[in-house]
Amino acid sequence: MEHIDRLMLRLGEITLKGKNRGRFEKTIAEHVREVLRPYPQARLHREYGRMYVQTGDIPAEQYIDKLKNIFGIVDIIPVKQTEPELDQIIQAALNLIAEYHLQQETTFKVTAKRVWKAFPHSSHELNRLISSPVLREHPLLKVDVRQPQVELRVEVREDAAYIYSQIIPAVGGFPRGSNGKAMLMLSGGIDSPVAGWYAMKRGLEIECVHFHSYPFTSERAKEKVVDLTRVLSGFAGKIKLHVVPFTEIQTAFTTTGQDNLMITLMRRAMLRITTRLAEDRKALAIVTGESLGQVASQTLNSMNVIERATELPVLRPLVMQGKDEIIEVAQRIGTYDLSILPYEDCCTLFVPRSPATNPNRWIVEKIEQHLEMDEMIARAVEQTELIEITPGMSPVVSAVGATEENDWF
Ligand code: ATP
Ligand code: MG
Repeated sequence: MEHIDRLMLRLGEITLKGKNRGRFEKTIAEHVREVLRPYPQARLHREYGRMYVQTGDIPAEQYIDKLKNIFGIVDIIPVKQTEPELDQIIQAALNLIAEYHLQQETTFKVTAKRVWKAFPHSSHELNRLISSPVLREHPLLKVDVRQPQVELRVEVREDAAYIYSQIIPAVGGFPRGSNGKAMLMLSGGIDSPVAGWYAMKRGLEIECVHFHSYPFTSERAKEKVVDLTRVLSGFAGKIKLHVVPFTEIQTAFTTTGQDNLMITLMRRAMLRITTRLAEDRKALAIVTGESLGQVASQTLNSMNVIERATELPVLRPLVMQGKDEIIEVAQRIGTYDLSILPYEDCCTLFVPRSPATNPNRWIVEKIEQHLEMDEMIARAVEQTELIEITPGMSPVVSAVGATEENDWF
């Protein structure tokens, strides 16, 4: 008797409520189609609050890992779909258990759910009607209703029945881009790519901004950020990276004689420039990889003085996380190995021996006035290079300000 192997994709409840439901589902469906593009045999079917991928000849394992990363999908369930008829359901259950190739005693139970009330057997009856033939055919199975190793679930609906035992957790969150746009300040470090991933998981579309102090920082350092953006683009489809020349501003700060305020000044200048880019790109927030207390510039006092440089909300997904947690996520999303490559960042250059943990806002503002920051900031914005990055493709430089060479890819 026939059954069809499918993957059932369950969408999160938050994404399904209210007016946004249709839009959210459509966004997730588009994302799924994109991920499945290399597999033309795969088919996507949408249903109220769920989606099904029909896997064709290719083993589902090949794309489960990719589907797991799609924001908005809460779990993935390999199901056998049959007509809502008892014989077919039993046959599918037998096939499913056969796939386990049992070698030793295994505990088991059936959990059936009759969603379609006109089906002639109740959920309770179904449990018995299905488990009897399964137990007969597989003598290694023993019933354990509390903590079975294999829980065979059966869901009977009007148009189909679904038989499954495995529920594979997926990333969840909001569908990509469903909550507006933010600029991610992306350094080459461990934290900011992770912050970007969390922002995307929350449904933010991100554009990355990187500050580069050529020749103090090398082309390799910039390339590393392109590579990090490429990894992030794997979750988003496509990401824009703005590379801002920061040499002039940074050099100006070294002349102030206020070494301990270097980082505070640089961070404020970065925020100002990012704010300008955000206005230009219609983004409504700035995301950073800051984590409370991690370094001198991330004390509450520093954050206060730094944050005053912008009127946009500064979102810090990692603010309460420890380094271990952050590293774990970096490894999981595939940015860690790139982040630990030893290329210098503009903030690690000129780092004072004792950066201020409690910078004085008044002094900082005086220095900024004295340096006539506005013009330098305008120049940096003007000379910002825009690179569009798509997974698996060469980056496309779509706008270059001034004289930078761009043949370094
Ligand atoms: P990260 O690992 O993200 O570099 P960090 O712990 O090294 O973070 P800092 O170097 O103090 O912390 O930077 C704090 C935040 O400022 C970063 O997470 C990032 O969002 C932003 N930032 C720092 N340097 C740059 C840069 N060169 N370009 C863009 N953003 C930067
Ligand atoms: Mg850093």
